[in-house]
Amino acid sequence: MKTSTRLDIDHLPRISLLDGPTPIQHLWRLETRLGKALAGVRIYIKRDDHILFAGGGNKVRKLEFLMGAALADGCDTVIATGGLQSNHARLTAAAAARVGIDCELVLGRVVPREDVEYEQNGNILLDKIFGAKLHILDRGQNASDFVYERAGKLAQAGKKVAVIPMGGSSAVGALGYARCAEEILAAEIELDIQFEKILIPNGSSGTHAGLAAGLSALGRSADMVRSYSVLGEEEATTTTTLLLANGALDLLGCDRIRSCAIDICGEHRGAGYGIPTDEAMDVIGLLAKAEGILLDPVYSAKAFAGMLHDIRQGAFKPGSNVLFIHTGGTPGLYAYRSEF
Ligand SMILES: *Cc1c(COP(=O)(O)O)cnc(C)c1O
Repeated sequence: MKTSTRLDIDHLPRISLLDGPTPIQHLWRLETRLGKALAGVRIYIKRDDHILFAGGGNKVRKLEFLMGAALADGCDTVIATGGLQSNHARLTAAAAARVGIDCELVLGRVVPREDVEYEQNGNILLDKIFGAKLHILDRGQNASDFVYERAGKLAQAGKKVAVIPMGGSSAVGALGYARCAEEILAAEIELDIQFEKILIPNGSSGTHAGLAAGLSALGRSADMVRSYSVLGEEEATTTTTLLLANGALDLLGCDRIRSCAIDICGEHRGAGYGIPTDEAMDVIGLLAKAEGILLDPVYSAKAFAGMLHDIRQGAFKPGSNVLFIHTGGTPGLYAYRSEF
């Protein structure tokens, strides 16, 4: 296997949406609060929610490559899909605006909520401000059929359309997190610490896949990443994650990995995607009060709750360092007012 401290990635089309590496902070106030329960495990957080573009979040990294590919293909329009409160939709709208192409969003009613905040505040409000054209589907309506038809119509009208995959999770989108892996390994050297585990939420799996691919390409073990599924079952999510990781490794010209290197926990999802759990709601309050950091109820809080559970169970070596990646989603908080 070839190993190096740099990925062979610069030949792939990419636009620049990040302003350098995101900060890594040590959550010592939280550690003080939780005391002995942590068995000396030190918790660091990488602030991808702090990316200085359009409210930040993990989709920015994916969109650097997805938009780069769309522009390289000469596209003048992108279509993205997601739920009404999709962070991915919001960030695609912003990225399209920034590069000066049209954006259409196909938003499904995938979460059982009908309150006015969910329908009109948070991400969906921002989608409109970023100038996207919105298509809001009825409950049960098939998003891919709609996208296929809409893309056909736009093509007939002379547009060149790129359809962005759900959650930005394709092999190309995952490359954004392969670069993030490179960033994390550079930070280990700079901070003079080693991370035993990197913890993240898993929705459409591109984030986990990209990190796993990047780590493996750089000579580290892909199972350094553990994700907490907020959408799919453990087994199906593992299959998707592996497929995307190997797709990214193909693009990087590196050896593939096997499913035993994909570590996914499905126990903190609760009743389903977008439905907050009690432990996630508790963790939002805990981190807000201990550190002044906002998590979101759909992704980051469920994963953070999973990580704390695992630490309490002794899943990580006493005295080791773990790195939680805050994947963003705080604009979605405003859609969940009634839960608070
Ligand atoms: C999309 C999203 C995730 C999940 O990332 P995937 O690559 O889809 O697994 C996590 N956190 C936030 C805030 C997101 O918007």
